[in-house]
Amino acid sequence: GGVLRIGALTRHREVLESPVIGERYALLADAEMMIADPLVRNMGTIGGDLANADPAEDLPAAFVALDSEVAVRGPDGERTVHVDDLYVGPYETSLEHGEVLTEVRVPRSPGGSAYSKVKRKTGDYAAAAIGVALSMGGEEIESIRIGLCGVGSKTLRASGAEQALTGERPGSEAYRRAGEIAAEECDPIEDAKGTVEYKRDLVRVLLGRTVARAVERAAGQEV
Ligand SMILES: Cc1cc2nc3c(=O)[nH]c(=O)nc-3n(C[C@H](O)[C@H](O)[C@H](O)COP(=O)(O)OP(=O)(O)OC[C@H]3O[C@@H](n4cnc5c(N)ncnc54)[C@H](O)[C@@H]3O)c2cc1C
Repeated sequence: GGVLRIGALTRHREVLESPVIGERYALLADAEMMIADPLVRNMGTIGGDLANADPAEDLPAAFVALDSEVAVRGPDGERTVHVDDLYVGPYETSLEHGEVLTEVRVPRSPGGSAYSKVKRKTGDYAAAAIGVALSMGGEEIESIRIGLCGVGSKTLRASGAEQALTGERPGSEAYRRAGEIAAEECDPIEDAKGTVEYKRDLVRVLLGRTVARAVERAAGQEV
């Protein structure tokens, strides 16, 4: 139940191979598995992935779902920034000149979590991707956070879809409604990875699939 701290210089591969992350933060393992290829995962760092602020990078959306904050150090000392407030625009963070990101902190492990991504081929960035972390209260979704990747000028949080699912029983109708809302909340552009409508459709479909997987994991079913 403690805080998970991952140092900025940790490489993708180390996250992917961590048994603690595989067991308790499954969406991070899902996301890492789909980042680029083994060459990139052997070299790329968690701090670099978060600080680069590419809206199509996966870890920002995963850490948004995990309600995380980053520790930042600069000439005036250390401060923390919630990931919801880290991204200003494409390749732009709220870090001040001279500040470096030193670690990311996840306050608690979720009841269940999952990350889904559609990309054209291995090595590509996402056409769209979704990270979900939730806790169940009996048969209902008690709390949920949803991060969106590749469908806006920065990493997005699907707050409307979160509200639509909070207090609901999981099921296809709830997923359909939340998927419609998330598809409206995102703001994709047309590029080589697809049209605006295609990307909205990916969000619509991936949302239900990803929440369903997180719910199954929360119930102890390995998927
Ligand atoms: C072919 C290819 C495909 C990729 N596909 C994906 C993908 O699908 N999904 C994905 O998430 N990522 C992807 N990446 C990105 C990759 O995951 C790297 O993590 C990312 O490029 C950062 O690399 P790096 O750690 O070497 O940081 P660098 O390239 O060294 O740094 C990136 C930027 O962040 C700054 N920076 C680095 N560390 C810090 C820090 N601690 N504090 C403040 N600023 C810092 C640097 O100054 C620089 O501006 C891909 C990369 C490549 C080359």
